[in-house]
Amino acid sequence: MIGLPGAAPAADVCSRAGCREAAAWRVDWRNPKIHDETRTKTWLACDEHVDYLRGFLESRSFPVRVARFDETGAEASGANA
Ligand SMILES: [Zn+2]
Repeated sequence: MIGLPGAAPAADVCSRAGCREAAAWRVDWRNPKIHDETRTKTWLACDEHVDYLRGFLESRSFPVRVARFDETGAEASGANA
């Protein structure tokens, strides 16, 4: 009962090790010691692990921003007036 046709592609899965759930959240973060302000890393998280991943980063005092992960590309930049 695996590999059902029409299942979501594997690209947008949770970043938590061993988790294969589809991402519902994006976690944008930065390590101030090695990244300047223009470099941001993005993790993806499912509903279960978004709190874990955010807590992991906050415990290291990294800047973290969590937002709904929207596959429709609502955050596409460019032509918005
Ligand atoms: Zn997960």
